[in-house]
Amino acid sequence: MEIFNELESSAQSYARSFPTVFNRAQGAALHDENGMSYIDFLSGAGSLNYGHNHPVLKNALLAYIQNDGITHGLDMHTAAKADFLRAFRDCILVPRSLDYRMQFTGPTGANAVEAALKLARKVKGRSSIIAFTNGFHGATLGALAATGNQHHRGGAGVPLTGITRMPYAGYLGRDADTLRYLDKMLSDPSSGIDHPAAVLVETIQGEGGLNAGSPVWLQGLQRLCRKHDMLLIVDDIQAGCGRTGTFFSFEPAGITPDMVTLSKSLSGYGLPMALLLYRPELDIWKPGEHNGTFRGNNHAFVTATAALEHFWRDETFAESVRAKAALMTQGLQRISERVGVTHLRVKGRGLMQGLECNDGETASRISQAAFQRGLIIETSGNRGQVLKCLCPLTITDAELGEGLSRLADSALEVLSGTLAACAS
Ligand SMILES: *Cc1c(COP(=O)(O)O)cnc(C)c1O
Repeated sequence: MEIFNELESSAQSYARSFPTVFNRAQGAALHDENGMSYIDFLSGAGSLNYGHNHPVLKNALLAYIQNDGITHGLDMHTAAKADFLRAFRDCILVPRSLDYRMQFTGPTGANAVEAALKLARKVKGRSSIIAFTNGFHGATLGALAATGNQHHRGGAGVPLTGITRMPYAGYLGRDADTLRYLDKMLSDPSSGIDHPAAVLVETIQGEGGLNAGSPVWLQGLQRLCRKHDMLLIVDDIQAGCGRTGTFFSFEPAGITPDMVTLSKSLSGYGLPMALLLYRPELDIWKPGEHNGTFRGNNHAFVTATAALEHFWRDETFAESVRAKAALMTQGLQRISERVGVTHLRVKGRGLMQGLECNDGETASRISQAAFQRGLIIETSGNRGQVLKCLCPLTITDAELGEGLSRLADSALEVLSGTLAACAS
C-alpha cells in the first residue's frame, strides 16, 4: 500500500473508499492480494456491465492480438472498426429504427460530451446549453460546466460558462412540474435566459443520486426541445449499454434524441472507448475539426463487437436484465422495510437502483461496513447519501442475493444505534 501513498496523486478517489490492492477479477467477483473476495456492486462505475473478463470477449481479444490485428490506427479504417460499425448497425440501430451517424471521439466519456456540446453549438450557432441540477457529464472544462457537483466544479480554476442550469425531474418536489418552469423560462422574452442550442440530460442521474426522469417527463422534454428549436442530447454514458434493461436507457420513453453519448460499458471489457451518435443532418464537422490521437481503440472495437453479437442479437439478455432488476427492487424494498423507510428509501430503475440514506455520513458508513463484509458499493448524490447498486448485468441470481444480504447486514449494523434510539 505504501507505494500508492508515496507516489500517487491525492486526486485518488475510489481507492480511498476501498483501501486494498486488487489483483484478479472474474464476472461479479473481485479478489485482493490478501486473498479476500468481494462481490462487485461498483462495476467500474458502470464500465463493466458484462462483468470482469467475460470469457467470450476475452477470447475474441486474445485471438485478435495473437493474429497481429491493428492495435493503434489513429482514425484510419481498420477491419476491427468495420466489424464494430456493422455489428452496431445490425444489433442496435436497425432493430430500433434509429438512423444515426457514428463519431468516435477520444476514448473517455467526457470527450464524447465535449464533442456533443461543440457540435450542438456549431449546428445552432448559439452558445448556451441547458443542463440539469445534479447532472454529471465529466471533468474536462466543457463537460464540467454542465456538471452540477460543486466539489468537481471547484477544481476548474476558470469560470465555467455556456451552460444554463434548470431543475431536473422531481427537483422541486413531487408536485412541482419542472417542465412547466422550463417552458415558461424559454417562452418569456424577458425571463433573462438566452435561447439555448441544446438540452443535455441523463435519463437517470448516475452520479447525481439515481434520480430518474419518468417516461412522461422525458417525452415532455423532447416536445419542449422541438417547440423551442433545441437539440435533445441524451448522455447515456452510465445508463446506456443495457444498464436499465434496454440497450439505450431512453427506449421505454419512446423518444428519439438528436444526439446520444455512449462510453463506459460500450467496449464491454473495461477498455476505453467513446461514441457520439447523431442525426445525419447534424454532421457538419469539417474534416478533423474535432480531433484526437486515440479515436478508435481497436482492441475496444473487438470486445465491443463480441459483446454486441453475444448479448444484443435478440431480447434474451435484455429480458434477463429486467428479471434481475425486479429481484433487486424486491431485495432493496425488503431492506428498506426492515430498517424503515424513514431511514432507507429505494431509488432508480433497472440495474441502476440503490438506497437513499438520510445523510452522506450514514451512506459512507454503510459502504465501509459492506467493504468489510466483502461487498464493493459506492455512494452518489448531492450529499453522497445514495448507495448505488451497480452490479454487473451478468451477475447470477445467487450472487445478487448474497450481495443484497451483505448490504442488508451492513445497513442494520450501521443503523442499529439509530434504530434503538428511535425505539426507546
Ligand atoms: C462517467 C460519466 C461521464 C464521464 O465519463 P469519463 O469517462 O469519466 O470522462 C459522463 N457522463 C456520465 C453520465 C457519466 O456517468
